[in-house]
Amino acid sequence: MTAPTRGYAAGMPRYDFRCRSCGATFELRRTMAQANDPAVCPEGHTDTAKLLSTVALGSSGPGSSAPQPAGGGGGGCCGGGCCG
Ligand SMILES: [Zn+2]
Repeated sequence: MTAPTRGYAAGMPRYDFRCRSCGATFELRRTMAQANDPAVCPEGHTDTAKLLSTVALGSSGPGSSAPQPAGGGGGGCCGGGCCG
């Protein structure tokens, strides 16, 4: 049985790489079978390392925290004795 490969490119995972030579980060879309293959930096360097891909974890965090003023109104004009 031969599995058709057409249409698989749409779901091809994306991998992030970082070049150790120039420090550039780049991403490549390749199949999982090619995930461990060496990647070449856009600058042409071959000393690259594969980074852990960031996985979307959905909604994390409350997201309803309203910004509150820091301090709480301490000091001010009357605190320094300049209101007299
Ligand atoms: Zn590079």
